Amino acid sequence: MTDALPSYLSCENVGAWENYLDQVERVAPHLDKPLIPWIETLRRPKRSLIVDVPIRLDSGAVAHFEGYRVHHNLSRGPGKGSVRFHPEVTLSEVMALAAWMTIKNAVVQVPYGGAKGGIRVDPKKLSRAELERLTRRYTMEINVLLGPDRDIPAPDVNTNEQVMAWMMDTYSMNQGRTVTGVVTGKPLSLGGSLGRRDATGRGVFICAREAARRLGIPIEGARVAVQGFGNVGAAAARIFAEHGAKVVALQDESGALHREAGLDLAALAAHDAAAGGIAGFAGAAALSAEEFWRVPCEFLIPAAVENQITEANAGAIAAKVVVEGANGPTTPAADRILRERGVTVIPDVIANAGGVTVSYFEWVQDISSFFWSEAEINQRLDRIMVEAFNGIWEVAQARRLPLRTAAFVVGCNRVLEARALRGLYP
Ligand code: GLU
Repeated sequence: MTDALPSYLSCENVGAWENYLDQVERVAPHLDKPLIPWIETLRRPKRSLIVDVPIRLDSGAVAHFEGYRVHHNLSRGPGKGSVRFHPEVTLSEVMALAAWMTIKNAVVQVPYGGAKGGIRVDPKKLSRAELERLTRRYTMEINVLLGPDRDIPAPDVNTNEQVMAWMMDTYSMNQGRTVTGVVTGKPLSLGGSLGRRDATGRGVFICAREAARRLGIPIEGARVAVQGFGNVGAAAARIFAEHGAKVVALQDESGALHREAGLDLAALAAHDAAAGGIAGFAGAAALSAEEFWRVPCEFLIPAAVENQITEANAGAIAAKVVVEGANGPTTPAADRILRERGVTVIPDVIANAGGVTVSYFEWVQDISSFFWSEAEINQRLDRIMVEAFNGIWEVAQARRLPLRTAAFVVGCNRVLEARALRGLYP
C-alpha cells in the first residue's frame, strides 16, 4: 500500500515524480515474486536534502537560491547522478531524476545507487564569477552527502566540465587533498575521461543502431529529428551524421529548423556558439514548435527535459522509433498513444545510460590513477550498451511488454534483489 505523498510535495508541480510512480505501478506485476514485498523502497527516496544557497552577487547584494540533493536508493552502491541548474527545478523533479538513476545504473550494471541534485536558478542570468560562487556554496551545503564512495555528481542540464571542476576543487580543499573521483564529467586535465563528452549521445546512437537492426531500418540515409542541442542532442546528432544518417530537424529553446537534405551540423554548431541558440541559422527553414513534432523521420530523439512528448503531440509524431536522450521526456499518456500507433520507444533508462556508463569509467580511472585510450572506452561502452539493450529486448519479446516496462523489470529486479539480500537494519 502507498501512503499519501509527504506534505512538502503537496504544493509543488509533481509531474515527473508521478510519471515515475506510474512506471513503477506498471512494472509491479512483472517483478520476481519474492521481491514484490520490497517494492515500497522504490516509491520513496532514501533521503532528500533541501538547502539554501546564498551568494554575493557582483552588485554586492546577497541572493538566495534553493538547492536539492536526493539519494533515491543506495542498495547497489554509492549515489550517482548529476546536478542541473534550471529555473524550474523542484524537489519532486529531482526525486524523479534520482529514481531514474537508480533504475538506469542497475540496467547497465554500474555499481551505483541513484542520486540527483539541482539548483532552482537561471544560470544565464549570472556572471561567471556568480556561477562559480553558486556552485561552490551549493557543494558545501550538500557536502554532508558527498564523497567518491558516498555520492558522485556529474553534469546535466546547464552544468558542464567547468562546474564539475569547481565542485571537485571545493570538495578537495575541504578534504585537504585532491579527490578527483568525487565528481565525473570533469575536464581531461583534472582526471576527466576521454569519450565522456560524447558518451550520452553515443549511447543514444548505439541503442538506435541496435533497434534499427531488429526493425529492418537502415541507418544509412535514415532521417533523424533531435530536440535539444546541448550535451546530449548535439553529440547524438553528430554521431548519427557520421554514420550516414541525415539530421533533418532540430529544436532548442530558441526555435526549430528543418532541412530535408540534412542540416550542416558543423556550421550549425558555430552559429549556436555565436548566437546562443539555433534560431536564425541561414542553412535551413524555420519551423514552429508544433511542426517540429510532425516531421516525418525514422528516429526522433528528445534530448532536452521532461514532459515534452505529451497527449497534445504524440498523435502527430511521424517517427518509427523514439530514442529518449533526455530523462522522462514522454508522459505516461503519450507513451500509451505511441504504443497504440506502433512507434517503438527506447526508454531513457537505457537510451541515455551511455553518460553514466562512461562516468563509471572515469571514476574507475580516477581511483586506479590509470587512464584508458578513447578507443578502449568507446569499445567498452559499446559492449555494455549492447548487452543491456539485448537483455531488455529479450524480456520485451518473451513477455510481450513495451521496452520501458521490460527495462524496469530488469532494473527493478536487480535493485530489489540487492535490497532484499541486505535486509533491514536494525
Ligand atoms: N546526467 C546524466 C544522466 O542523467 C549522467 C549522470 C552521471 O554521469 O552520473 O544520466
